[in-house]
Amino acid sequence: MSERSYPGSRQRIDLHAHTSWSDGTTGVGELFAAARRERLDVLALTDHDTVAGWSELPAAVAASGVAAVPGIEVSSEDGGRSVHLLALLVDPAEDTELAAETARARRSRVERARAMVELIARDHPLTWEDVTAQVAGETTVIGRPHIADALVVAGVVPDRSTAFGELLRPAGPYYVPYYAPSPVAAIRAIRAAGGVSIAAHPGSVTRDDDLPLDLLEAMVEAGLDGLEVDHREHDDAERARLRGFARAHDLLITGGSDFHGAGKPNRLGENLTAEAVLDALVERAGSGTEVLRP
Ligand code: AMP
Ligand code: FE
Ligand code: FE
Ligand code: ZN
Repeated sequence: MSERSYPGSRQRIDLHAHTSWSDGTTGVGELFAAARRERLDVLALTDHDTVAGWSELPAAVAASGVAAVPGIEVSSEDGGRSVHLLALLVDPAEDTELAAETARARRSRVERARAMVELIARDHPLTWEDVTAQVAGETTVIGRPHIADALVVAGVVPDRSTAFGELLRPAGPYYVPYYAPSPVAAIRAIRAAGGVSIAAHPGSVTRDDDLPLDLLEAMVEAGLDGLEVDHREHDDAERARLRGFARAHDLLITGGSDFHGAGKPNRLGENLTAEAVLDALVERAGSGTEVLRP
């Protein structure tokens, strides 16, 4: 693991990571302990559609000495395409539009997971109990990764990646969508909650194609603050293309690992964000939620 910082920055800043509150495999304390081992200075906690892990951040920051950016990876959906948005420094109150939309997405995710398991069970030995057995005690957001892990345990596929490639892909026979707001509605809700919105891995949505330009432009119009250009699912050409779009539209450029613990090969700190960009994010946020410093 290299320990370089983003060019021109002293600090190592990773703005994208998951825990077992969604589909990662580590708890919040464990995540920040790992961040310290990777010599990170700042890490954003961005579980899918939930702020459940935020209450554990003060203790994790104190124990690790790594600063935390409270965040959410918000699900949105455009014409059947899943579009992820990093919502950083939002107000976590339960009476915001953002909280209502993420709660609705969480509920829909459970129904969707049950529906997918029912479809899979027609052809393969898999039960709902097999899936819930893969859910860490605290998980509040169920996703395809939990179904994938249950399929591995049941001996249907050798690993998570094969499960996604063969059984769980959107074009496959067992895929069921879940409710999520439109990207434009999600960006407006993030902004109304005082947060900053970043299009997550915009070059790898549904993992095999880019966000269409007209959608990206509508997202910018709605108040999108930045693009996660530096992500393992973007090759150099994609990064150059996205950097050009960001410059042309005055968007911030971020990078993150999208760490999911043992569930994915992503290493903490493998993609980083410039210090000046974090400063700009903090400057833009108006929610009262702050970066937690050790
Ligand atoms: P869901 O939100 O339930 O539709 O599942 C999407 C999640 O599955 C993403 O956030 C990733 O964490 C994970 N994922 C997507 N593709 C893969 C893959 N090929 N291998 C492992 N995990 C994946
Ligand atoms: Fe995930
Ligand atoms: Fe994502
Ligand atoms: Zn993610």
